[in-house]
This record gives sequence, C-alpha cells and structure tokens, in this order.
Amino acid sequence: MKILVVNAGSSSLKYQLIDMDTEGVLAKGGCERIGLAGSLLKAKGNGQEKVYEQDIPDHKVAIELVLRALQDEGIGVIAHMDEISAVGHRVVASGEYFKHSVLVNEEALKTLEEKTFELAPLHNPAAATGLRACMQVMPKTPMVLVFDTSFHQTMPPEAYLYGIAYEDYKAYGVRRYGAHGTSHKFVSQEAAKYLGREGDENFKVVTCHLGNGSSISAVKGGKCMDTSMGFTPLAGVMMGTRSGDVDPSAVEFLARKKGMSHAEIVTYLNKKCGVAGISGVSSDFRDLIAGANAGNERCALALDMFAYQCKKFVGSYAAAMGGVDCIVFTAGVGENTPSVRADICDGLEFLGVRLDKDKNAARGDSPVREISRADSAVKVLVIPTNEELVIARETLALVG
Ligand code: AMP
Repeated sequence: MKILVVNAGSSSLKYQLIDMDTEGVLAKGGCERIGLAGSLLKAKGNGQEKVYEQDIPDHKVAIELVLRALQDEGIGVIAHMDEISAVGHRVVASGEYFKHSVLVNEEALKTLEEKTFELAPLHNPAAATGLRACMQVMPKTPMVLVFDTSFHQTMPPEAYLYGIAYEDYKAYGVRRYGAHGTSHKFVSQEAAKYLGREGDENFKVVTCHLGNGSSISAVKGGKCMDTSMGFTPLAGVMMGTRSGDVDPSAVEFLARKKGMSHAEIVTYLNKKCGVAGISGVSSDFRDLIAGANAGNERCALALDMFAYQCKKFVGSYAAAMGGVDCIVFTAGVGENTPSVRADICDGLEFLGVRLDKDKNAARGDSPVREISRADSAVKVLVIPTNEELVIARETLALVG
C-alpha cells in the first residue's frame, strides 16, 4: 500500500510517497512559491531529481503537478494515481478538538476550519487549503488529518493546565498543547522497540527534539505525560530565534520600554530572541559552535544557556515520572551535535546517566545509536526523527 504524506504551508506543499510494506520513501519533493512569481516543484524519484519551473497559482495546481511528477516517465514511481491508497495531511494544531488522527469527513473538515484556525493562524488554514485541493483532485482517495499536538493529549490536567483562572481555561482553551508530537511519538516508540520495552507501562523516556525549534517531552509507557512547549511553540527551552519561557510581566515591561504592541512583542520573542538573540551571531548551532571555538563569549553563553535549560527539563521530567530509563536526542541539533548532547548530560550522573565520549562523538547513520556506556543505568540514544513516517503510519491505521 502506498500513502502520500502532504505538508501544506501557505505558499508551499511538501510531500513524500511512502511504501507501507517496506516503510521506504518512493518519492518526495515540494512546491515552492505557490501563488507567487517564480513558483516551482522540486521532485525526486527513482534516484533522480527534476525541477518543474511553471506557474503554480494555487494548491490545487500544486497537487496536480505533484501527481504528474509521481507518474513522470523518468522520475515517476507509479503508473496511475489510484495506486495511492490514502493521503495523510500534517496539521500543526488540534486544540482539544482532535485527540487522535482522524479520517476526513464533513464533520472533521468543519471542526478543522471553524474551530482550530485561531490556534495556529499561519499554519492550519494552509493545511486546510492543501486538504481541500487534494480532495478536489483525488475525490475517491481517503484523507487523514494527523496533528502535531495530538500525541500530547494524554497529558494529565496537572501538566497541561496553567495557573490561570479555571473559567478562562474553559472559556478560551488556554492551556499547554505542546508541539512536535509526531516526532516525540516516533522516537519514543523506536526507543521502546530498540530496548525491548514495547508495551511496558513503566518505560520512562525523556525525548529531546532539538532543532531550530526545540521541545522536550516526558513519555511513560508510550504516553506523553508532559512537554516543554505550551499554548504555542514559543514556550519551553530557548530555541534558534524563540525566547522560550519568560516571565509574562517581563514581556509587558519590555514591550513598554521598546514601544511595541502586543503583536510586535510576540513577533520579537519568536524571531529575535533565543540563541540568535543571546549570541548576536546566528540561530544556527554550527555557527555558534564555530564562534565559541574562536573565542566568542556570547556564542559560548548561548550554548551554555541552551544546555542548562534542556538539562533542567530532563531533570524535572525524571522527577515527574518517578525516574528515567532512557534519554533520546533527535532533530537537527540533537542528531548532529555531540557537544550539545554532552553538555546536557553533564551533571546528570546522579540520575544514572553515563555518556560514552567516543560513541557520542562518532558519526553514523544507523536508525538508533546508543551513546551511553554499558554501565549507564539510563540509556542515551540518538534516533533520527521521521515525522512523515508517523503520519503515514497513522494514516494506514485509519484506512488500513
Ligand atoms: P532542524 O530544525 O531539526 O532542521 O535543525 C536545525 C538545526 O540543526 C540548526 O541549528 C543546525 O545548526 C543544526 N544542524 C543541522 N545539521 C547539522 C549538522 N550536520 N551538524 C551540526 N548541526 C546541524
């Protein structure tokens, strides 16, 4: 069975066609600049790449072009569109409206469009546009919505509620929703598989998704118990350009001092802060490491702050779960930056963490890399994330 995974943005549409028998990627690519001058599709298949430079006025044309590429004489991997059994759509925010992935029907579409847009005003309308385009072009193919937030819906109220008036939580849905859920789900499941702990209700993992956006989750028995991002992906640890947690009163104070509106200060906290704001150099960890190695103290400070904040989350989640069996690192920084992993683990020996310096420093592309010492009570793993595969698996589970 072949499943198409679609990730639609306001002017982009990325896709992967996955063969569910092997879980291998048959083809992938993305349309860029939809509705703008210079639109194009970069498509890969059969080990080749092809760029379609053409007018892509809307998402319907984008998905038509993707289907053409999938059936292309050179890079094509299917003979007919009917070979695609279902389409899984990535959706950023579910609020409390969707606790799981869902098969699209009138009701799901209505809820998506009428209830969730205000929770992710940049992302959810784009996902709905992509979905409607696919429904038009592939009317007989089942569609599934897979949400970044739904893995976090198992959090207990003490973890997801803020200390605000309960009536306001009820009236406005202001609470912790988290993000990167498909990634946390994937790596926690892979860790359980690797360690032979699948189905073990007592298996406690802290998953560290560290990339340009970073979030950390506590996962016990395969269920998310807590996560560092909040009502939006601005909360938790500091990130590439996002501030992470800041006292709300400091935000109001800063806005007044800088003469910024509510919207402007939120944009500032999203775009001008984090390790980029502290270092004054870059949001990219490779630049920060190069800067710190060359003696730039603010690059070193940004790296120290990042590792310190991550370490605090790992420790607090061990406390929340009554222990930790495994720490997983994933995403751009988590998978590729040994010094960040070492800095986070340094000082966690009291929990039973013993990092193996050589294994941590070694590169490799195996699906799971164990970087803790044999005598480490807590296994430390590096697992490349695969959000598209989670979307495809969820889609298969609903249409299978
Ligand atoms: P992501 O958001 O998961 O794509 O991660 C982006 C971050 O990962 C950037 O800060 C990069 O510096 C970092 N990153 C990606 N690839 C590498 C690499 N090969 N070595 C070091 N850092 C990397």
